[in-house]
Amino acid sequence: MARLAQTAGLTDVQEEILATVRTFVDKEIIPHAQTLEHGDTYPADIVDGMKEMGLFGLTIPEEYGGLGESLLTYALVVEQIARGWMSVSGVINTHFIVAHMLKQHGTPEQKEKYLPRMAAGEVRGSFSMSEPELGSDVAAIRTRAVKGSGGYTINGQKMWLTNGGTSNLTAVLVKTDEGAEKAHQNLTTFLVEKPEGYGEVLPGLSIPGKIDKMGYKGVDTTEMVFDGFEIAADQILGGVSGQGFRHMMDGVEVGRVNVAARACGIAIRAFELAIEYSQQRRTFGKAIAEHQAIAFKLAEMATKVEAAHLMMVNAARLKDSGQRNDVEAGMAKLIASEYCAEVTQESFRIHGGYGYSKEYEIERLMREAPFLLIGEGTSEIQKTIISRGLLRDYRSRG
Ligand SMILES: Cc1cc2nc3c(=O)[nH]c(=O)nc-3n(C[C@H](O)[C@H](O)[C@H](O)COP(=O)(O)OP(=O)(O)OC[C@H]3O[C@@H](n4cnc5c(N)ncnc54)[C@H](O)[C@@H]3O)c2cc1C
Repeated sequence: MARLAQTAGLTDVQEEILATVRTFVDKEIIPHAQTLEHGDTYPADIVDGMKEMGLFGLTIPEEYGGLGESLLTYALVVEQIARGWMSVSGVINTHFIVAHMLKQHGTPEQKEKYLPRMAAGEVRGSFSMSEPELGSDVAAIRTRAVKGSGGYTINGQKMWLTNGGTSNLTAVLVKTDEGAEKAHQNLTTFLVEKPEGYGEVLPGLSIPGKIDKMGYKGVDTTEMVFDGFEIAADQILGGVSGQGFRHMMDGVEVGRVNVAARACGIAIRAFELAIEYSQQRRTFGKAIAEHQAIAFKLAEMATKVEAAHLMMVNAARLKDSGQRNDVEAGMAKLIASEYCAEVTQESFRIHGGYGYSKEYEIERLMREAPFLLIGEGTSEIQKTIISRGLLRDYRSRG
């Protein structure tokens, strides 16, 4: 029945993966999402199901035990999962980013050490750039790693780690003393292995409790405090310090496609709920879908769903082809997240008073959509990236 958000030119394998995930979402996620979300309960059974389907290794190369699938496959899977419940896509997103960074930038030893266990879902990744005083301005990072005789000592505080308590490998961006003039050249990514859980999980490393959020519940988001934490030099991603900014920007570029995909998934669900409800609810002697004002809302919502999906697919395909996709990923993230907020809002209005009831899914989507305007770079930051790229490519010859 789904007509919207179709993707032309998929392989049989991609079609099969998506059909399996869609069935999983309809049977195992949608029926439980409201209860789990309202209880802020970690979706342990759903995560086990995703492990069984091999989703933790979806993009990890086959030689390391993964399925070796493309960013496009991953994004389409995420779109389906977010259609069910965004928090579940949050569980795999940071894992996927860390696996991507290891695959692209890790030393052979680091790939061998982590990727097979990441593919199996035994090692679960999170990534940490943000700090209490910065998010957009990544180059201003203050958490510092100082080199000693036996390795590095890290001090400082990180903020907003999705899966901070439920992961056991965190890619952390910190400041190192490279002596470079430009701030972003003095940043290094460390691969911090830690046990899952909260409190002082290792000497000098604490994960205080979960941050209480307005939505995106079930999945944990935490702080991370370093107080004289010691780490070996061979835990630097790629083995060379000073490269962290480049690593992280590569990670967030795929992350942006992922956030766009999540926005598409939520918008699809908001549309599905609206078109169903509008045919059931009657006012003034007819279904509200028969009032032109509501029918036109549906038309506009569907057009936004379609446009966002196509731009997200385009950005994923570009990255898969090996080309730089900073502008396209920024555009896809910008439009998909803004449209998601608009489509969700319209679906909420179509639900009338019931949209305000916690019994209806739309109230959850209303709390999820705003996060997408912020995560992996706000809309303002996307516009900065897009305009910089445009001015680079359309440089005036005058
Ligand atoms: C639920 C949740 C999960 C998260 N998970 C992670 C995670 O796993 N890892 C991680 O590292 N981070 C994570 N983050 C952090 C997130 O990436 C940042 O919140 C985001 O990048 C924005 O940074 P900020 O909050 O510091 O806002 P600020 O950078 O302080 O921005 C505040 C406002 O100013 C605007 N602004 C800033 N600079 C400019 C500019 N140059 N021009 C115009 N406007 C500007 C912004 O658009 C925004 O509207 C998460 C955040 C949330 C809420």
